[in-house]
Amino acid sequence: MKRRNFLKNSTLSTAGIISAPLFASCQETKKELPPITNAAVSVKPIVICTWNFKNATAKAWEVLEKGGSSLDAVEQGVKVEEADLNNETVGNGGRPDRDGHVTLDACIMDKDGNCGAVLCMENIAHPISVARKVMEDTPHVMLAGKGAEQFAYEKGFPKTNLLTEKAKKDWLEWKKKSKYETIINIENHDTIGMLAIDKNGDIAGACTTSGMGYKMAGRVGDSPIIGAGLFVDNEVGGATATGVGEEVVRTVGSFLIVELMRQGKSPQEACEEGVRRIMEKNKDRRDFQIGFIAINKNGETGGYCIHPGFSYSSYTEAGQTNNTTETFLKS
Ligand code: ASP
Repeated sequence: MKRRNFLKNSTLSTAGIISAPLFASCQETKKELPPITNAAVSVKPIVICTWNFKNATAKAWEVLEKGGSSLDAVEQGVKVEEADLNNETVGNGGRPDRDGHVTLDACIMDKDGNCGAVLCMENIAHPISVARKVMEDTPHVMLAGKGAEQFAYEKGFPKTNLLTEKAKKDWLEWKKKSKYETIINIENHDTIGMLAIDKNGDIAGACTTSGMGYKMAGRVGDSPIIGAGLFVDNEVGGATATGVGEEVVRTVGSFLIVELMRQGKSPQEACEEGVRRIMEKNKDRRDFQIGFIAINKNGETGGYCIHPGFSYSSYTEAGQTNNTTETFLKS
């Protein structure tokens, strides 16, 4: 029996044997607690993702519309960006580290709290699918570096050279100065973090990136870290992040946002508080971007970021929308 069902069943059987007045008083106490979930009545399928990755939400929607699971939807959705050679911040064609190696990070989380991640993995074009295999086929949550790559080969993923001619040329150009800096809104599309609700009302999320361009060898940001770059709790909602991963990790950003929603905040309010906490810790620093998006069990969404320029794509039965978010700084 799954742990959650076990807990549910034990609560019920306890209720069955205790006296009625005591049960009534338990219920009263329960009422005073903050709502654990926003109890979705009839939630319609929806998918959202960081930035205006239209093709990715369209693909995920295709899966949801056919009645597919939110887990399949987010995997299929983010794979579109992993495969896009023109996208230099995710998957194949991503910017290399400062030594010229493209190293990819990804994680995925399902409705039951299962999760999988790969960190700093080379030569594999679809890290999100490897992350899913880690989740489903191993007793572990994370595999890193050579171990992740080896595991991917064992699972039949082909070896792929991820450094495109264009990315190589840009890297060689960068090397002339080797200025180590973070760039606000790189190309206006960084990491893809995606959250979806399927026809059963179940939530799943995925996050995948090539990380900060020209990073130090071995550097890993927030994106493959469950709780930082992505977090899903099927009773409450989900959140995901893009931007300077170090700052998201320091506040365990996505977990924080889901917990704020659990306490009753809307997705929008929770994202705003997530950014505010980061800015509290960076009183003298303004030169970096972070964007959060979130969804709750009712299918309500929100997004917030530090600098103007961030948006998130959504797809529902009403169609596709690009949602520009409010910002902490106004310019
Ligand atoms: N969050 C990613 C990282 O820190 C990068 C990004 O979204 O720009 O690796």
